[in-house]
Amino acid sequence: MSHILIVEDERHLADGLRFNLEADGYDVSVVEDGEAALDRLSSDPHSVDLIVLDVMLPGIDGFAVASELRRGGNYVPILMLTARNRPEDVLRGFEMGADDYLPKPFELSILLARVNGLLRRRDWSRRAPATHGGSVTGSSGPAADRFVFAGKVIDFDRLELRAGDRHVPLTLMEASLLRYLVVHAGKPVSRKTILENVWGLHEDTDTRAIDNFIVRLRRYIEDKPAEPKHLLTVRGVGYRFVVEAEVTKKTVSS
Ligand code: CA
Repeated sequence: MSHILIVEDERHLADGLRFNLEADGYDVSVVEDGEAALDRLSSDPHSVDLIVLDVMLPGIDGFAVASELRRGGNYVPILMLTARNRPEDVLRGFEMGADDYLPKPFELSILLARVNGLLRRRDWSRRAPATHGGSVTGSSGPAADRFVFAGKVIDFDRLELRAGDRHVPLTLMEASLLRYLVVHAGKPVSRKTILENVWGLHEDTDTRAIDNFIVRLRRYIEDKPAEPKHLLTVRGVGYRFVVEAEVTKKTVSS
């Protein structure tokens, strides 16, 4: 049974969420602030399968909680509850490591669907067998959802990037952005297009928020992040992903 941690200081909302998640068959814990959430997760990091994390909390906010968890290497799925009409909160949440978000107020059925979706994805990536070492490029099964380039593997099933012995966990959003860039390899994509297609944001958002993601992805995939060879900036437009032709094998199915 999956265990969900709700981090929410509004009692009636937390109680309502707990009731409905328990009715759906989940184990549920509630904490009222970010410090308590971090305490809980640092003392027992594997006891929680998903966090429903409100942004507005007393003390440290939801952004800080997400960022602290990711910095500590905890990649438990995070569904962030953001204020309505604040697209910058959504971007900030993803930047801090959230996997999905819901603007408040939300329909419970939507929240339950998002929770189910995140947990399914998580279970699936856990079940997938680990493939370490050299044979990745040749022997991946037909269902393997990964992209191999320049000695690196983006594994969309396991949500990680592998480069030699280095395994970098990816959040769902990082993986989604990488997938979008890879699928459009060779073509410039604008920041606005990325916002619309990866984040689903159509509002007039500050598109520079994407740049922080790009900086992070470059640290993952570039040998020298300051001199990118794959994830290039297209001035006045956005970005372009380039695959080095001689060592590529495209296995992404989109
Ligand atoms: Ca709150």
